Amino acid sequence: MSIDRTGTSYVTTSIPYVNASPHLGFALELCIADALARHRRRRRRGLRFVTGTDDHSLKNVLAAERAGVPTWRWVAEHAAAFEALGAALDVSADDFLRTSASPGHAPAVRALWTACAARGDLYRRSYRGLYCVGCERFYEPAELADGRCPEHELAPEPVEEENWFFRLSRYREPLRAAIEEGRLRIVHEGAREETLAFLRGPVQDISVSRAAARARGWGLAVPGDPSQVVWVWFGALSYYVAALGYGGQDRALLEAFWHGAAERVHVIGKGITRFHAVFWPAFLASAGLPWPTDLLVHGYLTLDGAKISKSGRTLDPLPIVARHGADALRYFLLRHVRTARDGDFSLERFTAAHDAELANGLGNLASRLFALVERGSSGRVPPAGAEEPDDAALRAAAQALPGEVATAVDGLALDDAVRAVFVLVDRTNRYLNRTVPWDLLRRGRQRRAEAVLRTGLEALHVIARELEPFLPAASQALRVRLGAPPLQADVGWNALPEGALLGSGGQLFERSRPEGARSSG
Ligand SMILES: [Zn+2]
Repeated sequence: MSIDRTGTSYVTTSIPYVNASPHLGFALELCIADALARHRRRRRRGLRFVTGTDDHSLKNVLAAERAGVPTWRWVAEHAAAFEALGAALDVSADDFLRTSASPGHAPAVRALWTACAARGDLYRRSYRGLYCVGCERFYEPAELADGRCPEHELAPEPVEEENWFFRLSRYREPLRAAIEEGRLRIVHEGAREETLAFLRGPVQDISVSRAAARARGWGLAVPGDPSQVVWVWFGALSYYVAALGYGGQDRALLEAFWHGAAERVHVIGKGITRFHAVFWPAFLASAGLPWPTDLLVHGYLTLDGAKISKSGRTLDPLPIVARHGADALRYFLLRHVRTARDGDFSLERFTAAHDAELANGLGNLASRLFALVERGSSGRVPPAGAEEPDDAALRAAAQALPGEVATAVDGLALDDAVRAVFVLVDRTNRYLNRTVPWDLLRRGRQRRAEAVLRTGLEALHVIARELEPFLPAASQALRVRLGAPPLQADVGWNALPEGALLGSGGQLFERSRPEGARSSG
């Protein structure tokens, strides 16, 4: 395997607990990570993109007990639902890792544990504290809201046992400096500030194991101490290097995509920032491994304005994908939810955006252009003509688009990237309205009509290429119809082969509501 080590990227999602079916919040995370990964892949840097599930949570054991099935079977069935969601959303992951089933996971956890122990960062002591099973972590009384876990709004249980502890306090200063200096970039203002505030306070060592009995024996035994299992979060975080073969024989992926990567990006939800911005880099530093470079922290999704967990309402993303296609849901989540902010989903807004921006905006642009080329140029790519100011302005806007998209993606603002593509969609639609090629054809101005149609097709080609990370299916359909050169090719303006017959095809997006229909209240 030959990998360019100077410019590789490693992109991951978090690994959700499988105690419930996947919901829209994880669909959002998959879409963000996939768009980033697809954009990186295009630039011909080496890329590795992994996702997966965390099977080791005590929550899984309890849910399986309630359902009356063995834990392993219960987690296998639920993990399959998460894998299916990725497939339905056109997620281009290179690997899907399950902490209880992937053969590389346990050796990686043991290797990380052993490395931390060798550094003198693990010690055993008895401990009593307040444990939230939902979060799988202990809480300090000051961190609770009216005695309840702020995430789950449930009172944590008092637990007293002897555990292994990790010397987190040792890593407070280097972590604080790295985050302040941007060597560990946290892309989410609130999450960054909260992490820095935590690191400026008195940082306690953390418990990184649990009594095996309390975990019902589910989990990985602590190396050399079978009475304890490794804390589920220590194991879950290890997945990021386990997926690259850490602790195994073959170090090629680890060298290329961890040690040698230009960027190591973890896409996570804001509720698990501390695990990724504090605990994980500390474990890595202890084990002598480099840190992630970027934490892309997305916000929480509300559903019709209500917090999903609070209202008890959830929304299954699969029926939406089945009805409207993966691109439609990807579009809404990537454009109408700001990447590092909280966002809201409602079927009403989803449908409105789908119809106005996808069916009318992009879909209409494509269908009118293809119909005009059919009529004015026998369905073939017309020759480029003498450029008039309208044409030059559209060309300049189209040629600027790849740079605008790259800048937005590099800033981890995917919503700005999608918005930039759709600015060009609108601009191209307006260009056709202004240059009126159907009128030119009627008046027999064939050469000018062809020049206009060629300019429109070239703009559509740029749009199709730049859409690929966000709307891969629409991008592919458009590029096939245009007879476009491969995505990896470095192409400029006038990249379409003159005289080539355009492919046939239907509507890119079917409107949900007939034109002019009023939404019923
Ligand atoms: Zn909790």
